[in-house]
Amino acid sequence: MSPDDNELPRTEDEWRVRLAPEEFRVLREAGTEPPWTGEYVDTRTPGVYHCRACGAALFRSDDKFDSHCGWPSFDDAIPGAVREIPDHTLGMPRTEIRCARCDSHLGHVFEGEGFTPKDTRHCVNSVSIRLAPAQG
Ligand SMILES: [Zn+2]
Repeated sequence: MSPDDNELPRTEDEWRVRLAPEEFRVLREAGTEPPWTGEYVDTRTPGVYHCRACGAALFRSDDKFDSHCGWPSFDDAIPGAVREIPDHTLGMPRTEIRCARCDSHLGHVFEGEGFTPKDTRHCVNSVSIRLAPAQG
């Protein structure tokens, strides 16, 4: 149920109008919200997390786990919803994750930490996503 791609902003100025300042800073300028401040760090509510910029479904609450890292963490993403990009901005190799539909920054993905059997942690800014609680 995503809006038509033609409705997506085409320029950063258009995004700036659509998003709140903190949303714009994280989603469009690859910012990071301070740990433990996001609204979804400890959320257990069943549902689907959507991209706050474009509304695409990105993560399921079933894949959310408690990583104690201060950001919402998922050990899987909805297939095809997330794009992975090498990121060397902090002088160490990391993998940035972006919304595959609108190219907005979501966070980073880490592997080999042993948190869950899938051994993957999508570390996501709360301000990049919005939970649509499951019905009933
Ligand atoms: Zn998006």
